[in-house]
Amino acid sequence: MGCMRTVGSLFFALLAAQSAIGQQRGVDVRSYEVGIVIPDSGRSVTAWAAITFRRVPSSDDTLRLDLVGLSVDSVREARSGHLLRFAYDGKLLKVLIGGLPDPQDADEEDVAVYYHGLPQDGLLIGSNARGKRRAFADNWPERARYWLPTVDHPSDKAGIDFHVVVPDGWRVVAPGSDEGCRRRRSDARWLCEWHQVAAIPAYTMVIGAGEFTVSKHRPVINGRDTIPIEVWAYPEDSAFADSVPFRRATEIVEAMQRLIAPFPYEKLAHVQSSTKFGGMENSSAIFYAEKPYVERRMGEGVVRHETAHQWFGDAVTERDWPHLWLSEGFATYFDGVIGAALDGDTVLVNSMRANAESYFTSDVTDRPIVDSGYAADPIKLLNANSYPKGAWVLHMLRGTIGDSAFFRT
Ligand SMILES: [Zn+2]
Repeated sequence: MGCMRTVGSLFFALLAAQSAIGQQRGVDVRSYEVGIVIPDSGRSVTAWAAITFRRVPSSDDTLRLDLVGLSVDSVREARSGHLLRFAYDGKLLKVLIGGLPDPQDADEEDVAVYYHGLPQDGLLIGSNARGKRRAFADNWPERARYWLPTVDHPSDKAGIDFHVVVPDGWRVVAPGSDEGCRRRRSDARWLCEWHQVAAIPAYTMVIGAGEFTVSKHRPVINGRDTIPIEVWAYPEDSAFADSVPFRRATEIVEAMQRLIAPFPYEKLAHVQSSTKFGGMENSSAIFYAEKPYVERRMGEGVVRHETAHQWFGDAVTERDWPHLWLSEGFATYFDGVIGAALDGDTVLVNSMRANAESYFTSDVTDRPIVDSGYAADPIKLLNANSYPKGAWVLHMLRGTIGDSAFFRT
């Protein structure tokens, strides 16, 4: 028990080490609601976003949202529709909220931003590896701001609802529960809606839209809840996806539930996409790079890693980038731990050996595990210090305190 207490205090000290950007901004965003139209051709989008937030004690009368390179048409108080004054320099949208109800009277406030333009990054609209038109968001680490007005930092997690209008024949996937699609009378295009209640980081607030084959794997049972496990792939790659990388998608979640805790979201969709990363752990809608499907070389390791992120990184999120190992170290370690749970301890032994080799042959062996040297450029933290060394720190901790205390902690 003594050891457990030490580990707990260390963990919370790490989480508290950095002041949250939400507090610096004077707000705590509770939820976003986004409506966006994906065009039949071209890459320009029309969108609105409603932001529900609370002011924190240090707040002034300005709501500051990250939004890069788009055109803001108007900003309104969402409930009354009253126009609000704003200033936008192409990077930061400052909305004057002084005229809103006193925070003593109204606990939560809502502002709606109407905007349009051609996202320079973050929302990628174009052709997929099969030559079909599609749209995928790819937000990590701070690229949500290229298409969504957000407090674009992991310290301010929030719920999100998406209302996405797409061409006929497309399907849409996003975090949370599926609210369905319906054909619009006005233009015969489709409106698809998703509802994410639990707070998630802005870097996982994504949509994927295009032509998919969706296959339902055996669901996971969480007490009274049934968690759908789905594989969204391009039609040409669907049979491969089901039979090779995602053959044990359900068993992987069940292993994590036995070891750690119930799955934290309403469903889990594994999505073939055009992400720049091999896999991206978007909350309950994991995106994987499309090429390894097409080349038939995708394996299960990336699925174990990204699934583990649903607990470590998504449900529990680092407050600031220097603590990235809390996300990547855990996901790297639990890739091996899940493998051992499914196929025996040799999997973990081999993965820890590979982790050691990759760390000791890297050029980051002189850096601390909580690495504040790259705060301005989190991409540089995607290195052997955050991943394999992070996994080794956890493996050593487990060796020191024992399995029982480690997994309970
Ligand atoms: Zn990862």
